[in-house]
Amino acid sequence: METLVADHPLIAHKLTMLRDVNTETPVFRSLTDELVTLLAYEATRDIKVEHVTVRTPVAEANGVRLARPKPLVVPVLRAGIGMLDGMARLLPKADVGFVGLARDEKTLVASTYATRLPADLTGRDTFVLDPMLATGGTLVMVFDMLASRGASSMTAVCLLAAPEGIKRVADSFDDRYPIPVKVVAGGLDDRLNERGYIVPGLGDAGDRLFGEI
Ligand code: URA
Repeated sequence: METLVADHPLIAHKLTMLRDVNTETPVFRSLTDELVTLLAYEATRDIKVEHVTVRTPVAEANGVRLARPKPLVVPVLRAGIGMLDGMARLLPKADVGFVGLARDEKTLVASTYATRLPADLTGRDTFVLDPMLATGGTLVMVFDMLASRGASSMTAVCLLAAPEGIKRVADSFDDRYPIPVKVVAGGLDDRLNERGYIVPGLGDAGDRLFGEI
């Protein structure tokens, strides 16, 4: 598995604002949106393209366009929804699937409560949106769903990651499926606390994006 932690002053600046406990929901949402668009640029670096020729007003030019079948973007409910617009801005023609996973606050084990994914993902690049890669349990489950449907690559876009989560995903996927697996994160934090929160992190991403319900 390839892990890419963004190293860019704009990303670090926005991430710092996002972490700040005084950043309120409307600003948190727009910072998330901007950060995802910046991370999406890296996340799509290896996306499949095909060669095309176009006619400019002057001559023929060789270029590329995104290859078929279309990529699939999968926000993980609920917090991943806050990342969808930022990703769709760079990949407006991608299809969007959904996976809903809830984490048991005691056991920290994730369980699926909603799935809306194409049955066949053969040949498709897939991008999972989940702001916090904490224990890695959620991402392992979503990657399993995508790989078992035949995805040709799987990339997770996360605002923050913990070393424990990266290790769990890497250990789970290094040999299991013969496809590229990548995690792109805005930052790599120190550790998880006893409640499975990333430290220093930014708190509960869903609550900060959509309020405590
Ligand atoms: N989910 C969150 O929203 N925040 C964390 O720190 C870990 C998991």
